[in-house]
Parts: sequence; structure tokens; C-alpha cells
Amino acid sequence: MRGLAILTALVVLAGCPPADPEPAPVEETSAPATAAPTPEPTPPAPLVRTLRRVVVDAGHGGEDLGAIGVSGVQEKDITLAIARALARELAGRGIEVVQTRPEDAAVALARRAEITNASGAGLFISIHANSAETDRAHGIETYSMDVAADEAAMRLAERENREAEVVGRQANERDLDATLHELRQGVIAEESARFARALHGSLVDSLQGFYGADRISDRFHRTAPFWVLVDSEVPAVLVEVGYLSNAPEERRLRTGGYHHRAALALADAVATWVDEREPAE
Ligand SMILES: [Zn+2]
Repeated sequence: MRGLAILTALVVLAGCPPADPEPAPVEETSAPATAAPTPEPTPPAPLVRTLRRVVVDAGHGGEDLGAIGVSGVQEKDITLAIARALARELAGRGIEVVQTRPEDAAVALARRAEITNASGAGLFISIHANSAETDRAHGIETYSMDVAADEAAMRLAERENREAEVVGRQANERDLDATLHELRQGVIAEESARFARALHGSLVDSLQGFYGADRISDRFHRTAPFWVLVDSEVPAVLVEVGYLSNAPEERRLRTGGYHHRAALALADAVATWVDEREPAE
């Protein structure tokens, strides 16, 4: 639930049109009357992304406590503990880590998106813990972004329409942009889903192997519109490492052993993913 709230917030956030870039200073010169023809606008060069760099995002933080467990434990502390452990494990495997919040601090979703966009990382992993109305719900869920969801499609349409009104582009240009955009989004969504399945499989297998399949419930890989990261072209996943509203699961979630085992399994999946695509030199 919390994860979906975050995803929804990111959707809203990503639905905002980009801020106008800072205008370049105009030099006051006596330019000749016959100015050079205006060059065709060129698309921005793609940011170079490095697969061996991963953004690790600990959900919530600061005054945003996240879900509160049955014993009073706060989601923000669980996510930070696992994110830190994951960062250590990834570093040990030669993978560079960018943490959106290495400490207990409030970091706005917009700032997390900025950090990710600027990082040049090739993967984004957000760590969360779940909560439900019923105390019976338990298990692990992994989300990947997918713009095929109805809400995403609606917001895409809203945004495209708004930009078109503001910019006043020609219809055919808009169609081409939209087509390229959809193609890119489709590729990233596929990559995200593939990565989510790999990550989820590793996490569930490892934790079931240690705690028992009857205790660790596989709640599967799911999709949600993770727009802000679609635009940054980074395969993105959000892992719900368990339910804080379920007493036995919350007890496990509070232990360093669980944090460590979860981090190991996540790091193994990342390392395998990276090595398959970009073998170490
Ligand atoms: Zn959360």
C-alpha cells in the first residue's frame, strides 16, 4: 500500500511539465540584420548510463515515518537498514551505489527523482515495507513501472496535451514524439519487469530457503506506473520486503539478520544482472 502511494505520488510528480530551463544570457551585440537561419531543434543527447552504478532508495525518512508496525517500529528505519546493507553488499561486488538518503532524513520524491536522473545509474531500487488493513496479509511484492496502466495512459495524454498547447508544435511532430516516447517507455518497462522478476525471485528464494516457504509468502511481481523514472530511462523497481501489519513478519523485519539476508539476495540479483549485460573487465 505504501509502495503504491509512493508510485502514485511519483506519477503525479512526473505528470508535471518540466520546468523551463534557465535562459542563457543574451549578449548585447550589434548583430547583422541578416541573422543565420534558426537551426532545427535537436533532441537532448542521451545521458550516459552505467550499469555498474545503482541508485538505492530507502523509502520515507525524517518526519515521513512510512507504515507503523504492530510493535511500533517505523517503516523508514527498516528501509534504511536494508538500503544500507544493500549498499554495502553492492560495493563489495564492485558496483557503485548512489543512495537517495543514506541517513534518516526527509527527501522529497522530486529530489529522489533528481538524484536518480543526475546519477547516470543504470538501475533504480526502492526499498519499502508494506502494511494492510488486515493483520493476515504477509509476504513480498516487487513492483516494476509499467505505463500500460490506465492511469499512466491518462496522465501521459494530459501531459502531452498540455505541452502541445504551451509549445504549439505541429501535430505531426507531436505524433512522432509520442511514438518515440512510447517506444522508449515500452523498452524500459520490459527491462524493469525483467529486472523485477530476477530481483523478486532471488529475494523470495533466499528468504524462503532460510525462514521456510510457509513463512515467506510470494506475492509476486506486479506492475505500476513509475513515470518519473520512465522519463529518466532507468529500469526501476520497488520492493516491498514484508508486511509490518503482520506480527510474525514484523518481528523478522526488525532483525539485522533479515536485513542482511534480504540485502544479500538483492545484491546477488543485481550483480548477476549487471554481469550478464556488462561483464567486468
Ligand atoms: Zn513505503
